[in-house]
Amino acid sequence: MSVDPILTVHNLSAVFPDSNGGLRALDGVSFEVCPQEFVCVLGPSGSGKSTLLRILAGLLPPSSGKVTFHGGEHPGIGMVFQQANLMPWRTVSENLMLPLELAGAEIGASRQKAQEMMELVGLEGFGSYWPRDLSGGMAQRVAIARALIHDPDLLLLDEPFGSLDALTRERMWMELSRIWQARQKTVLMVTHSISEALFLADRVLVLSQRPGKVKMGLEVDLPRPRKDEMRYTAHFGVLARQLKEAIG
Ligand code: ADP
Ligand code: MG
Repeated sequence: MSVDPILTVHNLSAVFPDSNGGLRALDGVSFEVCPQEFVCVLGPSGSGKSTLLRILAGLLPPSSGKVTFHGGEHPGIGMVFQQANLMPWRTVSENLMLPLELAGAEIGASRQKAQEMMELVGLEGFGSYWPRDLSGGMAQRVAIARALIHDPDLLLLDEPFGSLDALTRERMWMELSRIWQARQKTVLMVTHSISEALFLADRVLVLSQRPGKVKMGLEVDLPRPRKDEMRYTAHFGVLARQLKEAIG
């Protein structure tokens, strides 16, 4: 069965001006993402991962190449960054309502939607909390809920768990898998962690050292739901090794 992609990236390059003829961050990057697929982009620091996501989110124009979203001129995109970036003077539920407020939604409906999202990410009852009273993991859950609140077609995640401790990060992997399956979203997530990519993704794209090029696309044929024990299996080890060798 072949499925039409939701996103096509064709021959994308990004060059930042510098005093030396330009710094090339991405070079000829091409790939497709299918609806409801979970794709991880794995690469070393400086390989252009954030640049790629910023281009996809429309925050940065590409130097050359093309990004096409299929099925609609204005695809809904939700983005989550490494830091939660919550507004400190707004409560959790007010932070969640902000995107809807900006879009001019009615307050009662916004409040209802915020409530729904808090349940989805396991923060029921925390609506009146201030960001400063949240743990790192909780703040990232709010950021994910905020990115999902307008029901985007595509969720872009830029190392969203990079600042969390190892145990919280692993708990968040389970949460994100659950949310992804419950909401049937398409996810493109950037990471520099091999185990994170293997735990979450259907497919992993490996970017080379700068300038980032797609060095490898690996199908992750590990059964779902993914379990912690899986990481100690021989097959997980084989996949991890392939990724490790591709990263170089
Ligand atoms: P990654 O997210 O994989 O660590 P980035 O996309 O942040 O990589 O950066 C890729 C390269 O582009 C790096 O060398 C970085 O210094 C450079 N870069 C990123 N953003 C800018 C910018 N706005 N201006 C100049 N150089 C940039
Ligand atoms: Mg980055």
